[in-house]
This record gives sequence, C-alpha cells and structure tokens, in this order.
Amino acid sequence: MKKNFDSLTKNQTLVLDCLKKARQPLGAYTLLKNLQGKGVKAPLQIYRALSQLAEKGLVHKIESLNSWTLCCETKHDASPIFAICEDCGDVREHLDEKIFRHLSNIPTNDGFRPDHAVLEIYGKCSNCV
Ligand SMILES: [Zn+2]
Ligand SMILES: [Zn+2]
Repeated sequence: MKKNFDSLTKNQTLVLDCLKKARQPLGAYTLLKNLQGKGVKAPLQIYRALSQLAEKGLVHKIESLNSWTLCCETKHDASPIFAICEDCGDVREHLDEKIFRHLSNIPTNDGFRPDHAVLEIYGKCSNCV
C-alpha cells in the first residue's frame, strides 16, 4: 500500500524533509533549530507537526531517545520494533505483529489494560560489530 503524502501542511513537509536529510533520529529541538530560518518559530509548531505526521504513519517516536525517525517504506498498523546501534546511532525499524499481539495478551491480574507497547532494542549494527 502506498503512503499518503498528500495534504501535508508546510510545517509537516519541512519536518519530514529535515528528517529525510538527517538520516538519523532527531529531537524536537534539533528540528526546531534546523527549521528556524524557514519560518518555524515555536516548539509547539514542531510538536504539532510531529504528532500529525505520526498519526499519518510517516514518522515514529523513539521513546528512549526522545527523538523522531522516518517510518520505513511499508505501511503498517502495528507498532514497529526499533534496533538501535549504541555506537553509530543507526536506527532500523522492524515489523513483527506477532510480538505485539503476544504482549497485548500478557495476563494481568491487577486489572491493567495494555494499550500500546514500545520495543527498542540496543546493540551494534552490522557496520559496528
Ligand atoms: Zn513504520
Ligand atoms: Zn552502528
């Protein structure tokens, strides 16, 4: 399935282009610094653009890095699993719906209702091993 890049706002397009150029996850403040010359002034504008892009499935947040990364080419509903290289910072997205289905079925006897899970795996990429 093709992704929908139509109807992106100016700020969404700027943020997306910035992440494409960076080729690595960026934090909101780095994005802001990069885009300040282009009319983006407030952190709120960055956060809004990021959450809208995330809703469209075009970017993901890497929680443990407090950064944002481009989604892979595939359109997917399930959360991705991120493999993060501790040496060079390279981040790869992997899809494995089975793991998340399993996680959402973990038995909870305290009434906890799982909503979503975050899976971020640290290690060394093939270039850094
Ligand atoms: Zn993705
Ligand atoms: Zn690496």
